[in-house]
Amino acid sequence: MIIAIDGTAASGKGTLGRTLAMRLGLDHLDTGQLYRAVGLAVKQADLDLETACDDALKALVEGLDLSQNFGPELRSSEIGELASKVAAIPQVRTSLLEKQRDFAQQPPHGKGAVLDGRDIGSVVLPDADAKFFIDAAADIRATRRHLELKARGEDIDFSEVLSDIIKRDCRDKNRTVAPLIAASDAFFIDSSDKNAEEVLAICLDHLDSEHEPQAANGL
Ligand code: C5P
Repeated sequence: MIIAIDGTAASGKGTLGRTLAMRLGLDHLDTGQLYRAVGLAVKQADLDLETACDDALKALVEGLDLSQNFGPELRSSEIGELASKVAAIPQVRTSLLEKQRDFAQQPPHGKGAVLDGRDIGSVVLPDADAKFFIDAAADIRATRRHLELKARGEDIDFSEVLSDIIKRDCRDKNRTVAPLIAASDAFFIDSSDKNAEEVLAICLDHLDSEHEPQAANGL
């Protein structure tokens, strides 16, 4: 069982991916963390993205141990912004593509996988068994992200979080490689007025209805 979840920044896809995987006994990969890890490595290596050559980026991504614990800095707004910049570089996407597919094909516990990101249903796993696309109004997503960042001790204004989210969505939707897009066969959820449990329940209902055995003719 392979499930693809895509969506905008702070739409709740990470929480949905984690809870859905837990409920179904599947392994979960938050692919945004991979791009964040590359963003963090770029920062630590003091690499200038404007001038860095493809080979330097490729070496940086391939030298990364993605299973390590990168610490709380990975979730900061600065690294989110850097992640969205590195995510627009074709070489970075190509280097991460196989890692994501390998995880889906050989999940650690062998039962199946839930991957969440921006291009999972459209590019990484176009043949996934189920696909979801999740979105919410920008101000609602910014409120959620603001609370999350403040709880992590980041001192940041709501207006800055909102403008970061809008900028990041715009960059993700308009890049030339693997832009953020809902796959044509994805089930759309607007999480604006729903909490995490409600979104999970909608997904489980959808999966049940999709995998219900068909009634025999006339019965
Ligand atoms: O989901 P999260 O906010 O952690 O993702 C950080 C950034 O990584 C996104 O803004 C996006 O640019 C990039 N990303 C991507 N493709 C994915 C997952 C994340 O381009 N599958």
